[in-house]
Amino acid sequence: MCHDVCMTTTQWSGLGTEDSASIDALIIGRRIRSIRKERGMTLESLAAAIERAPSQVSALENGRREPKVATLRRVATALGTTVEELIADQAPDERAQHEIELERIQRSIGFASLGLPKVRVGPRLGDDALATIVGLYRKIEQLRDERQATPEEARRANAELRSDMRERSNHFAHIEQEAHDLLAAVGYTGGPLPQRLTAAVAEYLGFDIHYAADLPSSARSVLDERNGRVYLPQSVIGSIDARAAVLQALASKVLGHTEPTDYAQFLHQRIESNYFAGAMLMPRDASIELLSVAKQHKDLSIEDFRDTFAVSYEMAAHRFTNLATEFLDLPVHFVKVHESGTIWKAYENDDVCFPTDSMGAIEGQMCCRQWTSMLVFRETDHFSPFYQYTDTPTGTFWCTSRVLASANGPVSVSVGTDFTHARWMRGGNTSNRAVSTCPDERCCRIPPHDLSERWHDHCWPAARPNVNLIATLPQGAFPGVDTTAVYEFLDRHAPHDGDTDDQR
Ligand SMILES: [Zn+2]
Repeated sequence: MCHDVCMTTTQWSGLGTEDSASIDALIIGRRIRSIRKERGMTLESLAAAIERAPSQVSALENGRREPKVATLRRVATALGTTVEELIADQAPDERAQHEIELERIQRSIGFASLGLPKVRVGPRLGDDALATIVGLYRKIEQLRDERQATPEEARRANAELRSDMRERSNHFAHIEQEAHDLLAAVGYTGGPLPQRLTAAVAEYLGFDIHYAADLPSSARSVLDERNGRVYLPQSVIGSIDARAAVLQALASKVLGHTEPTDYAQFLHQRIESNYFAGAMLMPRDASIELLSVAKQHKDLSIEDFRDTFAVSYEMAAHRFTNLATEFLDLPVHFVKVHESGTIWKAYENDDVCFPTDSMGAIEGQMCCRQWTSMLVFRETDHFSPFYQYTDTPTGTFWCTSRVLASANGPVSVSVGTDFTHARWMRGGNTSNRAVSTCPDERCCRIPPHDLSERWHDHCWPAARPNVNLIATLPQGAFPGVDTTAVYEFLDRHAPHDGDTDDQR
């Protein structure tokens, strides 16, 4: 029984009501044709039975004519079925299902946007070709959905991760312990971790460090476990990040990371890798000792922390937040802001109120113009740290901020705490003060009245494409990395088959 093999036709987005009506007519037409053939009736005999011309029945079956209720009753009677059976919202068989779906597709806005010619849906279109065309369109729609879904998934994952990090005061005891044990194993005694000991850590874990000029630009490092090699871009040689790059690369091995199954896991692993590098370069015990003494003197300083361990300011600021709450009883916040005002990274457990989107994500939101992280851009002295107290709707916060260079222009990196804890920080006695009433738009989102009067009707700025950290990432095992390029790279650099065993 052909019309028992029924499938619900897929809804296709972007159809107008008129098109929907004609799709309904097409489904009814196909059901009539299918039942007629089952009954062994010709077009002509059905036409005769309902007292219509064969051309009218043909138009009816092809969905070119809206069937009237009276006509449907006659057809139902002639075919020995019911009107309900004729107007059921299901295609009678697979072929009809595909035909209807192709009609839907070709009338959709999504199809129009592809700029492709329409295919005539008729008996000359073979079953295979029809099935393939419909399959290809379905795939296009699926890819479109995925592409749109990724940033949303990324934002959600970011928001969840932040709440998790807040819960644990930005502290991972197990990574601290791994780093502690590894440093002891290679004979670290204190101070900045020498390049020599970084290589010793790699060797201890069974890896040689190789610098390559042609590392795929989408990868910051590649671990070749087959040949026991860590590949890093040549550009990091001699830079302050060279040790961090090696340690981040080795982190996946130390922490037992497996191929991430989703974006959230990828993000979590990246956080852990960076954490591990920080914990190696600014070892727990030595750091706590330094910071505790500084706190006693009410002289906690990110600059001093940075200089003691010879790391970048951002790494020191980040590492400070790992230890501050757990070991110094300080609630803190950290924020990295592009000069455009876009927030790139943020963390808080001192109740400072960051702007968020509907999913709770902070990245990509605009920072208040009155905050330290924005006012620091106006400072002409970029050598001295900038301190400021900011009154906000959720309380008064102290913050220290620095402007740093990045590949995408200047960024500010800031660390702060609430008013009551600011006295432990160097710069806690600053007289710099600002008031932020964000998210009240009158704070800094709406331009001052006189400025607006002067310019509103007399300018037309063009937006620069946004440098968005959580823009669409390539789909693949490792988000953002071109897997093929990495494999090709590994092939180019791997030792020949004969000598692989020596390297293991
Ligand atoms: Zn504001």
